[in-house]
Amino acid sequence: MPVKRMEKTPMPVQGAGSRARNFKEVNEGYSTFHATFEAERCLRCQDPVCVGGCPVQIPIPDFIHAVANEDMAGAARILRSANPLPAICGRVCPQETQCEAECSLGGRFNPVAIGHLERYVADWERSQPISVTPSITRDEQIAVIGAGPSGLVCAGELARRGYAVTVFEALHAPGGVLRYGIPEFRLPKAILDWEIDVLKAAGVEIQCNVIIGKTLKLDDLFTVHGFSAVFIGTGAGLPQFLGIPGESLNGVYSANEFLTRINLMRAYDFPDADTPVHVGKRVAVIGAGNTAMDAVRTSLRMGAEEAMIVYRRSENEMSARVEEYHHAREEGVTFHWLTNPLEVLDDGGGWAGGLRCQRMELGAPDASGRARPVAIPGSEFVLAVDNVVLAIGTTPNPLLTRTTAGLVTNKRGCLVADEQTGLTSKALVFAGGDAVTGAATVILAAGAGKRAAQAIHEALAARAEPFRQRASLRFDHRLP
Ligand code: FAD
Repeated sequence: MPVKRMEKTPMPVQGAGSRARNFKEVNEGYSTFHATFEAERCLRCQDPVCVGGCPVQIPIPDFIHAVANEDMAGAARILRSANPLPAICGRVCPQETQCEAECSLGGRFNPVAIGHLERYVADWERSQPISVTPSITRDEQIAVIGAGPSGLVCAGELARRGYAVTVFEALHAPGGVLRYGIPEFRLPKAILDWEIDVLKAAGVEIQCNVIIGKTLKLDDLFTVHGFSAVFIGTGAGLPQFLGIPGESLNGVYSANEFLTRINLMRAYDFPDADTPVHVGKRVAVIGAGNTAMDAVRTSLRMGAEEAMIVYRRSENEMSARVEEYHHAREEGVTFHWLTNPLEVLDDGGGWAGGLRCQRMELGAPDASGRARPVAIPGSEFVLAVDNVVLAIGTTPNPLLTRTTAGLVTNKRGCLVADEQTGLTSKALVFAGGDAVTGAATVILAAGAGKRAAQAIHEALAARAEPFRQRASLRFDHRLP
């Protein structure tokens, strides 16, 4: 076995001091030299365990081998065969718990930087002209509800199979969380726009400002508008609150509202943009997932002098991507681990002025399998804050299920759907992504959209078959 370099080729990044005050992408991307140098670290194992760690089973050693040979077009083809959103997933997937966690080099050395290589290849592909053209060969039209990653991938896969697809999106711009949640400094919107342009070039129609369940009813998509099947990719956009006193004070936001105001509604440009956001000197973000990291780092970029994470468990239970956590630390975010918020205090004028907290310690594991935080008596203290941002989770918005008869949900409000096909309790209605799993990841949503597209195709083909047989029988009758 050749001797391998132990360390990953580092990703060039903007310096922490300057980037904490701007919205430009933090990671600057590999050059061709970096990419081929890193690709040569791959062992091309006979049993490529990294593939098993990828939720959509990208043939990882094959695309990395193509990079090592500087065959970027080949690498792009291999990547796209499994993952329709490589430029996005190369940036936001939690590789350290997926493919890179399985890499054979990982035991003794650093795993191959699979995510950085995926991003490199996808960015190379984006520098080439879009070569897709529409090819509608089927009679059936499909409706997709929601233009997040699950809906966009499902639409793209159906268009590739020759269907006319219309995506209905509630907001004024497509992309879902990729547009309104994940900030520019992690996922530049130009990348999302390019993916959407590819879909449009393939013939997918996107209608924004249409709320299914309000503007149009789901059943009407079949009976009035003539769609043959529907995919629901409406995500889990309803924020959860703590239910503590003071949550309705001014200056308290859900992370979804905070990030939407800034990312989608351009509050950073107020008053040139219509939507304001109030960011004071001290911002406390409750939670320690990707959403919390995005909110706390965004608050720094919006001018906060002190940006802090408040989390009732410890660093070990944090669910954010490791890279985001490191970047947040470098940018000066402070972390209050084992700290439970009890009350948002009024500054006397109806605005948040403090956060009363108590210290916690970890006890036996709870239902989630993580150590249960237990309050330490007499440990209360107050953090001085001007804003509190709640990033403690989201659930699916119930609007669609409340206005559609026959759509079964579970006790968390998620749609019940077959794991493989995405088929819901309603005939020819499929679903996937966060609307089914609850808040999860981009790659899982994309994978669900892809599987549902295949299932829709098979369901429509199966429905058409008896008709074709009947038609050919009728035709045969007329034969002399
Ligand atoms: P969404 O992306 O939520 O898209 C759903 C779309 O449906 C939205 O555009 C919504 O407006 C639309 N919609 C809803 N209801 C209707 C309706 N009735 N009619 C029409 N349209 C409707 N995952 C990662 O893998 N890595 C990360 O780093 C990461 N960071 C994240 C950061 C933040 C701030 C957040 C909030 C999430 C993050 N996630 C991350 C999770 C990831 O973004 C989601 O799992 C993923 O976007 C889910 O995709 P989806 O298509 O199911 O739903």
